[in-house]
Amino acid sequence: MSTPASPPDRATLLASLRDYVEQIREEGLEGLEGRGVVGAAAPARRPTETPAASLPDGRGRAAESTIRTAPPPPLSISPTPSPLASSTRSADTRSALTGDANLNPVYLYPGLEKTADLPALRQFIGECTRCKLAPLRTNIVFGVGDPKAELMFVGEAPGADEDLRGEPFVGRAGQLLTDIIERGMGMTRAEVYICNVIKCRPPENRNPEADEVAACEPFLFRQIDLVRPRVIVGLGTFAVQAVLKLKTPISKLRGNWHEVRGIRMMPTFHPAYLLRNPAEKRAVWSDIQEVMKVLGRPLPQRGPRGQDSSQA
Ligand code: SF4
Repeated sequence: MSTPASPPDRATLLASLRDYVEQIREEGLEGLEGRGVVGAAAPARRPTETPAASLPDGRGRAAESTIRTAPPPPLSISPTPSPLASSTRSADTRSALTGDANLNPVYLYPGLEKTADLPALRQFIGECTRCKLAPLRTNIVFGVGDPKAELMFVGEAPGADEDLRGEPFVGRAGQLLTDIIERGMGMTRAEVYICNVIKCRPPENRNPEADEVAACEPFLFRQIDLVRPRVIVGLGTFAVQAVLKLKTPISKLRGNWHEVRGIRMMPTFHPAYLLRNPAEKRAVWSDIQEVMKVLGRPLPQRGPRGQDSSQA
């Protein structure tokens, strides 16, 4: 009768594990970082990549590991590569609805990626009932401005005035945004493009909820793809956090460049916040000056509401 093999001791197990890790390294495979393997080096991150650890639930890094080490899971919606795929990788990894690293948000609605221009996109949205805000709105607030603008402003969601008129940023906060555009930047509203993350007004001006963002953000991303501005200015905490999929406060995000679908984005305070905190206008003016530098436009002598361009 044969004697049963004795269990391997701890030293043998550790040696085997070390060999295995070395083998993985030699094969050039990554993806062990998130699994707690001691000594696995973190892969270098390209400057334009969003840190996956900053995603709200940390799914981004796990999803990247999946791409590198296993075939992608079957998608319920066509995964046909977008012509913009190379410049939209960051956005691809941020689908709020599915969390699927392979899924570009515009593919959530088949045919959306084929809309050729903004009128076609508006037609695609139609009398939308894709989320629970539909029965509460007066008008869908799609967006206004130059369809080929080099500068795009993205806010949060329509308020009462916008809901009634079907146009973004037309209330008191809208007047301040117009002031920033005209007096601060020396441009007109018609020269820029203005829209929101959410196209329908949330009741009582509450923050949009995650399912509403997930349902509506594909339209914003398609707007960005179609306008292809040189710079996006994100207005306020919600809009910036929703687009970048971050939880970082706007006070820490503003003043620094980020990237959305291959386009530079400058977060700054929402005009409605400025109405309550006028002292922060100086910070917004500083952000706007950075935007003007990137656009190669001259700074007006005086900024919005008397901010002197030499002060910032
Ligand atoms: S908020 Fe967006 S997804 Fe929801 S009903 Fe309006 S347009 Fe449709």
